[in-house]
Amino acid sequence: MDYNKLAELLFPNVTDTCEDIENKYPPRNLPEGAKVTRFAPSPTGFIHLGGIYGAMIDERLAHQSGGIFYLRIEDTDAKREVPGAAVELIKTLAEYGMEFDEGAAISPDGEICDKGIYGPFKQSERAHIYHVYAKKLVSEGKAYPVFTTQEELDELNATDKKAEVKSKVWTEEAANAQREEMLKQREFTIDEVEAHLKAGDPFVLRILSEGDGEKKTKVGDLVRGALELPENDEDFVLLKSDGIPTYHFAHAIDDHLMGTTHVIRGEEWLPSLPKHLQLFKYLGFKMPKYLHTAQIMKLDENGNKKKLSKRDMGLDMKDYKRGGYLPECVCEYIMTILNSNYDEWRMQNPEKSYKEFPFSFKKMSNSGCLLDFAKLTDVSKNVISRLTADEVYAKLLPWAEEYDPEFAAVLSADKEKAIRILSIGRGGKKPRKDLATFADAKPYMSLFYNEYFAVIDAYPEKFDNQTVRSAIEGFLQTFDFSDDMNTWFDKIKALADSMGFASDMKAYKAQPDSFKGNVADISSFIRVAVTGKLSSPDMYEVMQVLGKDTVVARINSEIARLS
Ligand code: GLU
Repeated sequence: MDYNKLAELLFPNVTDTCEDIENKYPPRNLPEGAKVTRFAPSPTGFIHLGGIYGAMIDERLAHQSGGIFYLRIEDTDAKREVPGAAVELIKTLAEYGMEFDEGAAISPDGEICDKGIYGPFKQSERAHIYHVYAKKLVSEGKAYPVFTTQEELDELNATDKKAEVKSKVWTEEAANAQREEMLKQREFTIDEVEAHLKAGDPFVLRILSEGDGEKKTKVGDLVRGALELPENDEDFVLLKSDGIPTYHFAHAIDDHLMGTTHVIRGEEWLPSLPKHLQLFKYLGFKMPKYLHTAQIMKLDENGNKKKLSKRDMGLDMKDYKRGGYLPECVCEYIMTILNSNYDEWRMQNPEKSYKEFPFSFKKMSNSGCLLDFAKLTDVSKNVISRLTADEVYAKLLPWAEEYDPEFAAVLSADKEKAIRILSIGRGGKKPRKDLATFADAKPYMSLFYNEYFAVIDAYPEKFDNQTVRSAIEGFLQTFDFSDDMNTWFDKIKALADSMGFASDMKAYKAQPDSFKGNVADISSFIRVAVTGKLSSPDMYEVMQVLGKDTVVARINSEIARLS
């Protein structure tokens, strides 16, 4: 078999050589130890939590080492592609703090463009590059065409079956002598190829595998350590009949040319590693290091770990957006899953960005990571409690505009008031932690707006309406909006004393039976009347935000209701 002739027949239009291509991708001039990583999503309109998780590892490894983090759009599967998804993807990644040094980016006119010299970064624009390498493999007898008619292809698509061709055992020593034989076994001659091409028959290009499925090959994974996987003995497809590469082929060529040093990808690719080993060897490329990330799991009703599926809340990043989770909260949560020492570091460094944490893949666990919403809630409350009121407002408003326009209108009608509400209990060592998501904002803030205000809680049961009414009437009689906090509270204490309630908690605890109650009970009457709830942020501050008229009106309305 004349492989060069075969290569010429199959790729008559390819005139570039591999050297021509290599020359366009010079080695990167980076400091020792700098890592080059990439995030390589398919534009299917769906970014999931595992994707963000992987991208964060990429971003940290690259930027912590003074390396490069780039974005490649893997759009080789036209059937699954969603129009506009690549632009959406880049925007979502930006929301999650993913800043790419190179790669696919959005141009000022909203189109996908390339940033950096290692592109094109959309695989659909790289067909000619793949063909140059394909031609080389054919010319070396390492890849061969399999012709299929359109009907056969249709049938394959219809049944969604992959035509897998297994090679016979093929030892390294006998490789060259057997290569010819192998090709014959795959039943074609140059004449037949020519006849097929003349007839316009489509073909797929398959690798001529040399592995022995009975034997094991050693491969390394940064988290899982040394693994033994069966050698590849499958003549897997390199180019589909439309000339588009499979993931395997594009992965080897792109990551080689773009200088990727570390490939972080989902564990579903782990079984394909022997294929990639073979391809990198055939192509003469240096293997990158691999880190296969574990699937995100959840606990099912019976407490068993289960893979998170598309139907589950918490996989699709759109769920988080809709639910009002802040991207920085999700990132913070992911950090706690990534490195078990993160929580401790955070306690010692409450103000720092997670990007200052010394992330290490050596501290990653290789068991499936469990999505724990209680922990996410906890982490989120902490993150939001550290923001300023202005920051919360600036992020909350656009969320509300999209998911609760009526609330957004309320928030923007009086921005200053909204910020005053959000300022209560903020700052200091122990800030309030009322909000885990933006969806919590309306229930939390509603007491401040008459349009949402309602008396939700009942007064403490042991006191009759008459007692409650006297207390709030008493409060109103001495209420002066301009009082400072101490004067205001002294008046409540005086009211307690005058009604036979203890103003001094020590005295109350010593002899509870000699009082009707204590000053906290009096406060709770006022609290329910003014805020509608038994628990609320600091009441003095709440009243200051509400304003005199609202406080007086609410108490009067309660007096009337209790009469
Ligand atoms: N496009 C592949 C995927 O979405 C990327 C895998 C990789 O990062 O190599 O699964």
